[in-house]
Amino acid sequence: MILVLKPDASQEDVEQLVAKLAWMDLQGIALEEEGRRTIAIVNGDDAKTDLKQFAAFPLVETILPLTQKFKLASRELRKQPTVIQIGSVEIGNGTFAVMAGPCSIESEEQIFETAAAVAKAGANILRGGAFKPRTSPYDFQGLGVLGLQYMQKAAKAHGLLSVSEVMDPQDIDTLVEHVDILQIGARNMQNFSLLKQVGKAGKPILLKRGLSATYMDFLMAAEYILQTGNPNVMLCERGIRTFETYARNTLDIAAVPILKALCHLPVIIDPSHGTGIRQMVAPMAYAAIAAGSDGIMVEVHPTPDAALSDAKQTISPLMFDEMMTKLRALGKVVDMNVL
Ligand code: PEP
Ligand code: MN
Repeated sequence: MILVLKPDASQEDVEQLVAKLAWMDLQGIALEEEGRRTIAIVNGDDAKTDLKQFAAFPLVETILPLTQKFKLASRELRKQPTVIQIGSVEIGNGTFAVMAGPCSIESEEQIFETAAAVAKAGANILRGGAFKPRTSPYDFQGLGVLGLQYMQKAAKAHGLLSVSEVMDPQDIDTLVEHVDILQIGARNMQNFSLLKQVGKAGKPILLKRGLSATYMDFLMAAEYILQTGNPNVMLCERGIRTFETYARNTLDIAAVPILKALCHLPVIIDPSHGTGIRQMVAPMAYAAIAAGSDGIMVEVHPTPDAALSDAKQTISPLMFDEMMTKLRALGKVVDMNVL
């Protein structure tokens, strides 16, 4: 449930109330909604809790129910969409976030060349994997910290933010030093101990949907991160496993309006992993913006066929540039600003 506090409640009052709730074995998360201080009580079953005990607290003005299992992500908690602010970039506020770059960082030259091309075409966030979750242990596993150092320099040189996947809790500090957004990969969406630790890292999180995760599974995974007190979570639909085997995955575009109706978090589409097919990346990016997504994550490489990972789904800088031009035109129709 949500305890909406009286307008004159101070920060100190909130802290005291949260401490009191902890003493009652309840976890209270302090929030501000439309200028009002509120406390969300996220554990316990609202249906079985005696609400009168909270109504008796002098600072509580109203008590609102939280009926969804994903309490902190839900629209019941926050009617307004979450806007994630990173430096001068805002995600979820009407400007289409474009994360682009290679599947894997392969060399200093490769990431610099990609950064220059995608920045010129209008991307605002550079992506690149340094610790790669490959299906086969014999495939290229990424350059690790060295790759992150290259990407950090390339992003800075071209005025881009950066995002990279964290696979192991022991790498969190290293990622935090080098990138602006920490990515949780599809294969780790339900790695709950990783989610809890990454939430505490103090960086925005891009959470990818698991290969066979339902919306509920996805939202509950986001809940693990939100519960650590980190409100900056974005959801990324990257295709799911279905009976269809022609494409690498089935990109679930309906996830955009559905997730946005259920929760207040920004929703990003990854048309690269979503299809696995180079020619299908741009059409699915157009579908993403038309469906109301807050951004895309796309794999781009200076020489796509030579990419050490995911070559088949990687587009060239030229294809990326042409795609951005069309996205800009589509953005005007759907009221989304494309840089
Ligand atoms: C990636 O974006 O680099 C990646 C491995 O994606 P996913 O976790 O969606 O497979
Ligand atoms: Mn990839």
